[in-house]
Amino acid sequence: MKIGIVGCAGRMGQMLVREILATDGCELAGGTEALGSDMIGRDVAEIAGAEALGLTVGDDAQALFQVSDTVVDFTLPVATARHAEMAADLGRALIVGTTGLDADHLSTLSTASEKTVIVQAANMSVGVNLLLGLTEQVAGILSDDYDIEIVEMHHRHKVDAPSGTALALGKAAAAGRGVDLDKASQRVRDGHTGPRVTGNIGFATLRGGDIAGDHTVIFAGDGERIELTHKAGDRAVFARGAIRAALWTQGQAPGLYSMRDVLGLD
Ligand code: NAD
Repeated sequence: MKIGIVGCAGRMGQMLVREILATDGCELAGGTEALGSDMIGRDVAEIAGAEALGLTVGDDAQALFQVSDTVVDFTLPVATARHAEMAADLGRALIVGTTGLDADHLSTLSTASEKTVIVQAANMSVGVNLLLGLTEQVAGILSDDYDIEIVEMHHRHKVDAPSGTALALGKAAAAGRGVDLDKASQRVRDGHTGPRVTGNIGFATLRGGDIAGDHTVIFAGDGERIELTHKAGDRAVFARGAIRAALWTQGQAPGLYSMRDVLGLD
């Protein structure tokens, strides 16, 4: 499978390049970067710390889609929405790891998925996708006597908060309880907040260092507490998941899929 990487000079982009080069059955189709990036014209493999391949970083995503079977996108929401439209127009599969997508971006992805295969997941690791399932299950068993709080910590460069994974965990908890996260979520607390609202799902965001991604879902009852935790030690787990998703797209019908579909966890 020929896999193209948009945003190939980013932290995840470089990781993806290295993983593709190390995975049987995958071929690197090329990579792009944002218009004006000083990485344009450099060797895609070399900037990822691998041996030069003779493929240069471009700024023409359309050209990359044309030579790829599947494109992997860990960039920015606006870019991802444009890439989804290209994937639909050209009939290429798209793997979306970008987080911070708003309702408009998600609606663009959903429209594009009528014509092509799109896999979108805020977290591509096997462990986190298991955690999503467990969170939904535990929230379904416990009543709202157990307050749900979701705590996440990421490296200092992360630009969105709470993390896409924390929000996905919130959604899983809300689904387990049969409530709508938009109505039950408490994203920020500051100053005189008053007591906790029963049934709310709270979020807390920590940033610092080079942490790849820590997430804990806390179910706090009277006299006992259950905590489900996942810690990513290395970003390679996300890249491996994305490549697994790329390989999985072969032969799938158009649609918007999750990592739980790819891993067969649903
Ligand atoms: P990063 O800033 O290091 O990399 C993003 C890259 O995209 C940059 O090199 C940037 O120049 C490039 N880019 C921006 N616009 C572009 C465009 N129009 N065309 C091509 N390239 C473009 O960030 P990162 O740490 O690699 O994370 C990227 C995204 O992936 C974030 O949203 C992050 O939250 C998400 N992420 C998701 C997972 C997951 O498992 N789903 C895991 C890690 C990170």
